[in-house]
Amino acid sequence: MPATPLTDFSRLCLHTITTKPWSLDHACKEYARAGVKSISVWRDTLVGRDVAASGKQLRDAGLSIVSLVRGGFFPAADEIGRQKAIDENRRCIDEAAALGAPMIVLVCGAVAGQPLAESRRQIAAGLAAVLPHAKATGVKLAIEPLHPMYADTRSAINTLKQANDLAAQFDSSVGVAVDVYHLWWDDQLQAEIARCGKLGKLFAYHVCDWRSPTVDMLNDRGLMGEGVIPLREIRGWVEAAGFTGFIEVEIFSHRLWQTDQVEFLRQIQAAYLRHT
Ligand code: ZN
Repeated sequence: MPATPLTDFSRLCLHTITTKPWSLDHACKEYARAGVKSISVWRDTLVGRDVAASGKQLRDAGLSIVSLVRGGFFPAADEIGRQKAIDENRRCIDEAAALGAPMIVLVCGAVAGQPLAESRRQIAAGLAAVLPHAKATGVKLAIEPLHPMYADTRSAINTLKQANDLAAQFDSSVGVAVDVYHLWWDDQLQAEIARCGKLGKLFAYHVCDWRSPTVDMLNDRGLMGEGVIPLREIRGWVEAAGFTGFIEVEIFSHRLWQTDQVEFLRQIQAAYLRHT
């Protein structure tokens, strides 16, 4: 018998979007079979399902639920739109509570043509509006800063400094999700990760890679090791800041979604051990 390879997947978490072709049932079965211990659930996989039963199903399969993805998108051109966003975030909080997810990842939002400073004001106001409901249900909110290429429509929060500044306005229910894809280029990253840790707000750590060239602004993320992000260095900064949570693999890729997902999952696990 060959020696059993050293494998430790105790901190590996997969986002369901990473294996987008799979339903939640399918992902649950395959992740568990592969020895993955945790999952971040995207809301699209819960449509039409009993959310509480889905949470139980995942836990029964040995998967702990790290986060529900995603809430946010607070800015809107008018008051009605902003209220709709607040209502939707309250539903998202209820869903997280029913699922048993301790945290929601927030893509904060932006409105094309609206000044970014105004969008940031609306994001802060939206967070303040939903925070009592989050606290009442025990669900934490993690602000995920997005790469500035998404500043037009997806998020006016584009650096870790902006996310830290925003999170610092709120209590311990609001923190930050650090995603290497969005932040790797920032020369203030190490210092802001340290600051995030000091603030007690380093809630989540997401990994993938930045392919060069990147051919699609949204759906061409790389598997760890395929691109230019110094993954080990950033993980070192995150752990130096006190983070001991899950390392969440979040890859959107038309190219990789077209491949055999069982084989892709095997590649993710190998890349996790080798590069992350
Ligand atoms: Zn992310």
